[in-house]
Amino acid sequence: MAKVLIIGAGGVGGVVTHKCAQVPEVFSEIVLASRTEAKCKAIAAQIDRPIKTAQVDADNVPELVALLEREKPQLVINVALPYQDLTIMDACLEAGIHYLDTANYEPPGEAKFEYSWQWKYQDKFKNADLMALLGSGFDPGVTNVYTAYIKKHYLDEIHYLDIIDCNAGDHGYAFATNFNPEINIREVTAKGRYWQDGDWRETEPLSEKRSFDFPAGIGPKNIYLMYHEELESITKHFPEIKRARFWMTFSDNYLKHLEVLGNVGMTSIEPVEFEGKEIIPLQFLKALLPDPASLGPRTKGKTCIGCVARGIKDGKEKTVYIYNICDHEECYREVQSQAISYTTGVPAMIGAKMMLEGKWMEAGVWNMEQMDPDPFMADLNEYGLPWEIHTVNEPTAVDD
Ligand code: NDP
Repeated sequence: MAKVLIIGAGGVGGVVTHKCAQVPEVFSEIVLASRTEAKCKAIAAQIDRPIKTAQVDADNVPELVALLEREKPQLVINVALPYQDLTIMDACLEAGIHYLDTANYEPPGEAKFEYSWQWKYQDKFKNADLMALLGSGFDPGVTNVYTAYIKKHYLDEIHYLDIIDCNAGDHGYAFATNFNPEINIREVTAKGRYWQDGDWRETEPLSEKRSFDFPAGIGPKNIYLMYHEELESITKHFPEIKRARFWMTFSDNYLKHLEVLGNVGMTSIEPVEFEGKEIIPLQFLKALLPDPASLGPRTKGKTCIGCVARGIKDGKEKTVYIYNICDHEECYREVQSQAISYTTGVPAMIGAKMMLEGKWMEAGVWNMEQMDPDPFMADLNEYGLPWEIHTVNEPTAVDD
């Protein structure tokens, strides 16, 4: 029985609050705080249990500390934006509270995805006897746990890892992003990067393309190589991996819009002067695009996110594919949100549950693949993200 404080009342925050509320034996008290308290209250109103709400500017450490000292939760679930990771970690250290997030820190002025800033907190969390669990969403998050599970049960050594994220859903808009547009577009327009033989190789944005035949009736789709933050921690913690890549599906329509927006400068994060005021084009674009939280009722179709790992088991080559299929409309019926927020919010709740139940509680800063995957995998089946596993005794992979 524990009190949890959720920070961020966006698409993911809504799902985390719903899912924590479904598990009262672990989350006996829930506080939801965000920049705009009205959004917290709107989420609280969807739920049968009392959810306390608060206003907080998570860029402001003293404000956060005051909130934490007032509420005294055991754990903070940070589902605000990646820009707030460090201030929330600082506040947790000051107030003596465990921490969890779903995305690595990003400096606002630079589209840079790396764990270095947060890994630097290792000693501080250890010395304070507190735990920080990083990246407990789907990717990063479940994909890290899938990799650890494959290594624990299916392969003695993983040599090739391909993480493949498919959203086969349709929201009916000409162009919209399924989660925070600013974060999403910064990620998609960044250079691709993958791990090969002990080093990073860079590719031009979305220049590497393959076709992958997805299960559950989704069928073949184009997948594009991107950099994704879990590649950094997974290749660090499984140094035997020779090559690790991340792929995502994009429709031709999405890519055409993105190209045009990029060509006219709308996806830039460089400030420009407009009518005597400095604006950041990408932030202006965000104001024009549909709020991802509003896509829920309109989105149909499925997501399929998984890991294809190839390696050696008992001296023989083997390929393992673990994935989850999630249906946008079913998610909406359950928690009033589409599958992208759902697939992030459920693992955030499960990561928090692992910590509060003591299954994953250890002082320091941790990535998901460093923990025992078994209890987390069991809870994925229990709490809405069941997985499938296929193995092939042949050296097949995404391509080659
Ligand atoms: P949204 O933009 O929908 O929600 C973010 C929320 O954080 C908003 O309610 C926003 O407030 C609030 N917020 C922003 N800045 C502050 C601040 N300074 N102080 C307090 N609250 C603040 O994003 P999502 O819900 O889609 O994403 C949440 C997180 O989940 C992000 O970090 C994202 O990167 C991560 N994510 C991780 C995934 C994974 O698989 N690992 C996948 C998808 C997302 P306001 O409403 O006032 O704007």
